[in-house]
Amino acid sequence: MQQRTLKKAIEVVGIGLHKGEPIRLRLEPLGVDAGIVFYREDLAMTIPLSPESVVDTQMATVIGNEKGIISTIEHFLSAVYAYGIDNMRVVVNGNEMPIMDGSSISFCLLLDEAGIEEQDAPKKVIVVKRAVEVKDGDKFVRLLPNNNALFDFRIKFDHPVIGEQEEHFEFSTKNFVEEIARARTFGFAKDIQYLQSQNLALGATLQNAIGLDEYKVLNPEGLRFDNEFARHKILDAMGDMMVSGHNILGAYQSFAGSHNLNYRLTTKLLSNSLNYEMVAVQELQSRAFAKSFA
Ligand SMILES: [Zn+2]
Repeated sequence: MQQRTLKKAIEVVGIGLHKGEPIRLRLEPLGVDAGIVFYREDLAMTIPLSPESVVDTQMATVIGNEKGIISTIEHFLSAVYAYGIDNMRVVVNGNEMPIMDGSSISFCLLLDEAGIEEQDAPKKVIVVKRAVEVKDGDKFVRLLPNNNALFDFRIKFDHPVIGEQEEHFEFSTKNFVEEIARARTFGFAKDIQYLQSQNLALGATLQNAIGLDEYKVLNPEGLRFDNEFARHKILDAMGDMMVSGHNILGAYQSFAGSHNLNYRLTTKLLSNSLNYEMVAVQELQSRAFAKSFA
């Protein structure tokens, strides 16, 4: 399996969740070994994708530095993970990614339209060599060695619609598009009111999130899946693993994980060279992972 970039540049405009203003997103092909590179066009500032670029994980995964940031990169990166893209420039003219419909499906369609170009160098992935875990009380995230990429997520909310739910996902690009990509982010009306009083989440509407009051889903169309919440947490986790700049091959498991725990997990994984290995996909013993991108 070769490294991947886009066949051509492509552009879309969407609303930013926090400011509620239009954001233009342009994706451009990049050469072999360039990696995923974000660019703030309005500040002429490059931000390479790496855990070292992460500056905040409270409400979303945010990269940047003292000069500027790009917020809510995880839904986009989830699609980047699923399409196996290694090299690409991601240009935005504001401090956040467009929220689109609150899921990854618009980004999948964008990547479909740009087309995938196989490049003249082997694709490398981060192979998990030994178990790594981060805990916070009863919450945890962990990565275990495995021949293909698995994601298991369980959540528990004291809410009649969410309750306790889980999703078990065996990664392939096709499975991602069918089972995960359409799962939307979610928020509680009382939290949104508070955030908006703080000038945050100004772009949040029922067009880009599942809204919940104390008892029910507020969106007239209802849910896309019974366990859409757990599925979205997998979507987030895949995006957060992609912050490493590469596909991570292993089994991810979580109860009540968050962007912050995911960030600490990738950082911990990469902090010790005994935890992982960078391996060319064609050198993997098992063919399962390469096949999952077919
Ligand atoms: Zn999310």
